[in-house]
Amino acid sequence: MKYIGAHVSAAGGVDNSPLNASAIGAKAFSFFTKNQRQWASAPLAPDTIKNFRDNCDKHGFSMKYVMPHDSYLINLGHPGRDELQKSRNAFLDEMQRCEQLGVVLLNFHPGSSLNLVDNETCLFTIAQSINMALESTNGVTAVIENTAGQGSNLGYDFEHLKFIIDNVHDKSRVGVCLDTCHTYSAGYDILTPEGYEETFRLFNEIVGLGYLKGIHLNDTKKALGSHVDRHENIGKGLLGMEVFRRIVNDHRFDDIPIILETPDETLWKQDIELLYSLIEK
Ligand SMILES: [Zn+2]
Ligand SMILES: [Zn+2]
Repeated sequence: MKYIGAHVSAAGGVDNSPLNASAIGAKAFSFFTKNQRQWASAPLAPDTIKNFRDNCDKHGFSMKYVMPHDSYLINLGHPGRDELQKSRNAFLDEMQRCEQLGVVLLNFHPGSSLNLVDNETCLFTIAQSINMALESTNGVTAVIENTAGQGSNLGYDFEHLKFIIDNVHDKSRVGVCLDTCHTYSAGYDILTPEGYEETFRLFNEIVGLGYLKGIHLNDTKKALGSHVDRHENIGKGLLGMEVFRRIVNDHRFDDIPIILETPDETLWKQDIELLYSLIEK
């Protein structure tokens, strides 16, 4: 079974996100647990927490298919001591918000070396950051997203994901989210049927499909190996509809959240419907 949805707005309170997801016919959703462009946010009010849980129940969202995204400001591999601490504090706060909401998955971009340290040092710092957050929380899995590798962002190579996971102590609470746009711009050719098979064979060999906790379903404006992260609406970019037909019919992606983060949110409802219609019975 496929659980397809989108990254919906949490404006007015996170308890609105399941309502927004339900309105577009989503069976999975993502949201920000706080303002993604600010360091500090007020704690979640008890009422908001209760309403969030009630709204998820009422609209049939199991927590298995709810995967919020962390703040864009956080860099768990920051080479500067004070900045790293700030990021670690903010990440822990997000993990704790998930804990309070009953959410079991938190998706995040691994981090950036800022070209000040080598990749391995940065990846090891990221793993340490994850270890710290896991030690102070319960029940929430840290889901590392693969990146396009724009600038000095790491996590574009499956080997990076493996290196981080290898250095995380509690392997039961770490996972991976593959973003189709990032995968392609990182240089994995999922466009051709052969490239698609080879990419997921490699992912399974290097990381392991058991770690796959979610998919970000985005088309891309930028070329294979460009390392530029520009999402495009489903079927309107370089990937095109055939790739998405392949994905929604691929049983390796059953029973995990499949989240659209495409630019035109007015298309989400029809795109979710379209994607479901492509599934062969
Ligand atoms: Zn993504
Ligand atoms: Zn992206």
